Amino acid sequence: MPKQISVGLVGVGKIARDQHLPALAGNDGFELVACASRNAQVEGVRNYKTVQELLAAEPELDAVSLCATPQVRFEQARAALLAGKHVMLEKPPGASVVEVTVLAALAQEKGCSLFASWHSRYAPGVETARTWLAQREIKSVTVLWKEDVRKWHPNQDWIWEAGGLGVFDPGINALSIITRILPRAFFLKSAELWVPSNRQTPIAANLNFIDDHDTPVRAEFDWRHGSEELWQIEVTTSSGVLRLSQGGKQLHIDGAAVDVGPEREYPGLYERFHELITSGRSDVDLRPLEHVADALLLGHRHAVEAFVE
Ligand code: NAP
Repeated sequence: MPKQISVGLVGVGKIARDQHLPALAGNDGFELVACASRNAQVEGVRNYKTVQELLAAEPELDAVSLCATPQVRFEQARAALLAGKHVMLEKPPGASVVEVTVLAALAQEKGCSLFASWHSRYAPGVETARTWLAQREIKSVTVLWKEDVRKWHPNQDWIWEAGGLGVFDPGINALSIITRILPRAFFLKSAELWVPSNRQTPIAANLNFIDDHDTPVRAEFDWRHGSEELWQIEVTTSSGVLRLSQGGKQLHIDGAAVDVGPEREYPGLYERFHELITSGRSDVDLRPLEHVADALLLGHRHAVEAFVE
């Protein structure tokens, strides 16, 4: 029986209901005891409106999992760390890069584990892809991450506000995968950003990265796609072509399917959080967020037609 960790979940919205609650229910190492959300409640646990109320009323709690929108992540995480709780951050881990480094330092000072989670890294094809690529010479990388914003983000005004990332909200999932599987570090050379005239964040982006061997890494993110989403990464090497598709659920090498097992991203995330807490460690890899910040620094902006829900 794994050590049982009592956890509170903050921000009961789409991802909390779709993934976090089922993953917690299926993990014997965690007991969900309370939730905090301004407009939602979860049956069978104690419910509060804010993380501050939850922390004040539940002094015995070991950990919190923060599933609200990125613009409020820092204040919620800081409150939890100051109260001595271990903290799991949904992606993106913050609205800015530096606020997350401040949290990491605070976690260390308080002796708490901080887990900046990247769920797409737990897609079943990712670790096999990483191992296969580790010994190969990479020639080029193409990322196509395209979906219909109306299907995946209906009425999510926060995603169009500063700090909401726009098309980088799904695009950062691809960046979290390529920063995991590619053996060499890469960096942004140029970017094009298409921003609706009535919004703050891009609806589409093209990114051109290179690594220190001048290997091109190109990414196209687009929210103006049809109902069949395209979440694909193709890596051409000197000895074969690797393709991760369906967000990392499927892996093909030279066109042949590789058996990578079933999808279990969020169960994998909570196993990792448990392991970090019980071993007294943190896991904070900011590279995906740094690449998005670089795109917003370097990108050429093009105004496009207003986006109306
Ligand atoms: P959501 O349903 O729009 O929002 C989650 C919850 O955040 C809301 O229900 C709301 O709960 C709370 N919230 C919103 N604004 C707040 C504020 N100003 N102060 C405090 N709480 C606030 O969004 P979501 O899709 O679950 O996404 C949440 C996070 O998960 C994002 O960072 C997203 O990138 C990540 N994520 C989403 C998906 C997905 O498929 N949707 C997948 C993976 C990761 P209350 O109003 O009840 O407080």
